Amino acid sequence: MSLVQQIMNIVVQEKQAHGLVRVTRVVISNGALAGAVTDSLEFAWEALSPGTEVEGVELLVQEVPLKVSCGSCGEVFLPENNFCMPCPKCGLEIGHRVLEGKELRIESIEGDDGSDQGPV
Ligand SMILES: [Zn+2]
Repeated sequence: MSLVQQIMNIVVQEKQAHGLVRVTRVVISNGALAGAVTDSLEFAWEALSPGTEVEGVELLVQEVPLKVSCGSCGEVFLPENNFCMPCPKCGLEIGHRVLEGKELRIESIEGDDGSDQGPV
């Protein structure tokens, strides 16, 4: 099952769990190390959503840059690329701890519950 189909399943579950009549927008965070290409996610969403419960729902992908803390001195920095990341303070290139940018997750699901009180 593709990543986008998994996201769609979660959106449908959340929609039912919250009693939403309609979902208008889904915001996801795509970490630099998550292995998903933003354009591909958007393309797959457009391709797969017609005819499903998420048809017409806008997918907004926020790209999250990689942020690590040095395994030696603890310096927190944003590496320029994902493969070679020397610490700006001590020069260590490997063994850093990834703080942000590793995962793909759903940030928010926006919709309405059928009442006239606007977005939930
Ligand atoms: Zn360091």
